[in-house]
Amino acid sequence: MQKTTLIQASIIAPTGAVAISLGAQLAHHNVGTTALVAVLTCVTATGLNLARQISEGFRTTLYTCPANDCPVSIRAAGTSKTELERLHALATDHSKHGTDR
Ligand SMILES: [Zn+2]
Repeated sequence: MQKTTLIQASIIAPTGAVAISLGAQLAHHNVGTTALVAVLTCVTATGLNLARQISEGFRTTLYTCPANDCPVSIRAAGTSKTELERLHALATDHSKHGTDR
């Protein structure tokens, strides 16, 4: 299991505050328990998903081929420096993946 990063915490904490505030407001307006739980679950799930995606974005490296009209790009995360170097060489050298080798 991954550690919670500062980025994730900085998104999850406000999400919790929004969920609590929204829940209090809805409860004040006599919203039913089922609807209240559904809204809080959606707000919390959205915040957690956003935190996960942003955190993954910071840990992901994208290499694209510089050749015109070549659609090759490689996205890598959670791998070694050696593997990143291999993927970088593969993506940025069109002769290694292009059709006109
Ligand atoms: Zn290419």
